[in-house]
Amino acid sequence: MKIKIDERRCQGFGMCALTAPDLFKVGEKDGYAVALVSEVAPEQAEAARAAVESCPMRAIELIE
Ligand code: SF4
Repeated sequence: MKIKIDERRCQGFGMCALTAPDLFKVGEKDGYAVALVSEVAPEQAEAARAAVESCPMRAIELIE
């Protein structure tokens, strides 16, 4: 599973990074979220889904 972040939607609230700090961080330069992994490990899938739910802008998509 891969993480896709829509930068046009992301407002840098950081809920994703709070929810799944191993998978997301908010970029210090541009203030938008970035994925920390190119591939989500099976044991990280639940955290990735929780991050999707946490995003108020619905900017995160998981691609199977
Ligand atoms: S929670 Fe959504 S809007 Fe906020 S930083 Fe993460 S991807 Fe961006």
